[in-house]
Amino acid sequence: MSEIVLAGNPNTGKSSLFNTLTGSYEYVGNWAGVTVEKKVGTLKAGKGTLIDLPGLYSLNPLSHDEEVASRFLLGESFDSILNVVDASQLDRNLNLTVQLLEYGKPLVIALNMMDVARQSGLEIDTSRLSELLGVPVIPVVARSGKGTDQVLEAITRSTSGEALKPYFISYGELLENAVAELTERLPEEILSPRWMAIQFFEGNSVVRAALEATIDKEWLDHQYKTTEESLCRTFGVRTLSQYIRKQRADHIHAYLEQCVRHTKEGYRTFSERIDRIVTDKFLGIPIFLLFMYLTFKLTFEWIGSPLSDLLDAFINGPLRSGTTWLLDSMGAQDFIKALIFDGIFAGVGGVLVFVPQIFILFFIISFIEDSGYMARIASVMDRLMELVGLNGKTFIPMIIGFGCNVPGIMAARTIEQPKERLLTIILTPLMSCSARLSVYSLFVGIFFKSNQALVVLSLYVLGVVLALLLAKLFSSTILKQQESMFVVELPPYRIPQWKTLSRSTWEKGKGFVRKAGTFIFGGSVLIWLLSYTGPHGFNVAMDQSFLAKIGGLIGQVLTPLGFGSWQAGAALITGFLAKEVVVSTMNIIYAAPDTATLQGLLAGHFTALQAYSFMAFILLYVPCLATVGVIRKETMSARWTWFSVLYALVIAYIISYIIMLVGRALGYN
Ligand code: GDP
Ligand code: MG
Repeated sequence: MSEIVLAGNPNTGKSSLFNTLTGSYEYVGNWAGVTVEKKVGTLKAGKGTLIDLPGLYSLNPLSHDEEVASRFLLGESFDSILNVVDASQLDRNLNLTVQLLEYGKPLVIALNMMDVARQSGLEIDTSRLSELLGVPVIPVVARSGKGTDQVLEAITRSTSGEALKPYFISYGELLENAVAELTERLPEEILSPRWMAIQFFEGNSVVRAALEATIDKEWLDHQYKTTEESLCRTFGVRTLSQYIRKQRADHIHAYLEQCVRHTKEGYRTFSERIDRIVTDKFLGIPIFLLFMYLTFKLTFEWIGSPLSDLLDAFINGPLRSGTTWLLDSMGAQDFIKALIFDGIFAGVGGVLVFVPQIFILFFIISFIEDSGYMARIASVMDRLMELVGLNGKTFIPMIIGFGCNVPGIMAARTIEQPKERLLTIILTPLMSCSARLSVYSLFVGIFFKSNQALVVLSLYVLGVVLALLLAKLFSSTILKQQESMFVVELPPYRIPQWKTLSRSTWEKGKGFVRKAGTFIFGGSVLIWLLSYTGPHGFNVAMDQSFLAKIGGLIGQVLTPLGFGSWQAGAALITGFLAKEVVVSTMNIIYAAPDTATLQGLLAGHFTALQAYSFMAFILLYVPCLATVGVIRKETMSARWTWFSVLYALVIAYIISYIIMLVGRALGYN
């Protein structure tokens, strides 16, 4: 079996091609760097395996992703490279291609996005390009699958062991001499000494580390310095790597002169026209907010809530009576019935009714990613983010965090600066995730009936504003920032395909459903047991239960925040498991047969102001268990993990307290 590596710039369609070539599904998105993990699949024809590397602009690693890719290319054995190139952005993409060609493994170019290139008036002579580069160049449209058969064929041929034409571009006498001197010292068995030398001079840290294992470090440093000095003196460049990139760009430019023709002059693309408006200096942020507002309108008022009501009616109507009949006919004990209805139905059912709303939200997030709007949001937020010491790119993990904090935090891997990455990781939990949505949904349905979308939007904005303020605070105190640069590029807009959207919605949403079957199920049984038992035995009155005792302890501390009951205390403790469990706990505690009844009961226990303060507290108080786990994994630091939990508790307390103060001052209670 041969192993083929898929390499290319971010957002060029690697994952799409991966999916059509292997027939399996993988997460597909439309912003730079969605792929952060190594994915392996079996080629459709069964003639090998395909490995999807993270997107990279150059082999010289700048970001965490590029380092993963660079290490892979250096360290692992594989048979050939499938280089995905965006036909509409050839000059930028070929920079990587040239480096891969210099590396010297068999290579096939999949020239993707041919449809986009054609639309924007580019005519590419692929056979000429293939001649110039000395490798097969196959035009593809990964999205529709056009050309992928030919790609399969070409990679099969490429691994059949035909001799390669060595690829060579000259970097000028000065550098070539230095390269020759270095390659002479390299051990014989190295695959591509010339490539190693060029990468070394370009500043590739992975290659340098590899060289230092066999060659004297002082000699290397000396060579690097003297070469850089003479190049700078002769050609007036600032650095050695700048010189190399310039040389490469000149070669690429010369190739493109020979094989690309622009047919429509002065063609303004559709994307540019839309961007005029949505990334406008003044309109950008209001448009984004309007978009979010419509999202919540859709989620709560227009589609989501009616669907939730239907589901609720089904669970607590036919499903409940069917189960009752079944249990009765089996002669089930009261304990079992109580466990099933007061525990599982209340706990799991109470959360499942929010599935429609959560899926709609995930659908919209998938749409944002896949249409290309995500990158615009990042660029619109850039100026705001810069004020607090971050850049627009760090907003992307945060938006993903709106769906679920866990993938949001993982997406922070694409951020180059370690400190910005850390800040993003510890602030993403402030983004209101879909689990919190089930709590909001429950409460706004009671206390803010006429403006549900607006109230929920305010909570989302609260999370974002706090994240920005805290970023400022942290970056000027505990985490002094380096200068940052903004590198998100704007991919062209694309109308997302229905198939991709629905798959990616399901990919995200299934976690929620799975949680209902595992965590929330287990949590519900546990909570019910705690409510069923107490210091004085079984089947105790609810306020004599263990749950009431534990909740009561917490409740005391929460009194200044407006929700000092043991019920709220108990819900908050269990909410650490997963925020939806707050809803489960409430259902169990108030022994409500369905959502409507629970809402009726809660109306008597909270005021609107207390409910708002409670929702804000739920948003902020502590990242859920899974999020804490991923923070630990991504920061590799127990200290930062504790920090994330503790600062969140403090902020939650302060904010809820302020909400009560301000609310009371305004005459609410
Ligand atoms: P990756 O970041 O390289 O893995 O790229 P993806 O596979 O995630 O693709 C990025 C976006 O480009 C997605 O929205 C795809 O649907 C879209 N896309 C991929 N290939 C094509 C293509 O050939 N034509 C067009 N128009 N869009 C494509
Ligand atoms: Mg990808």
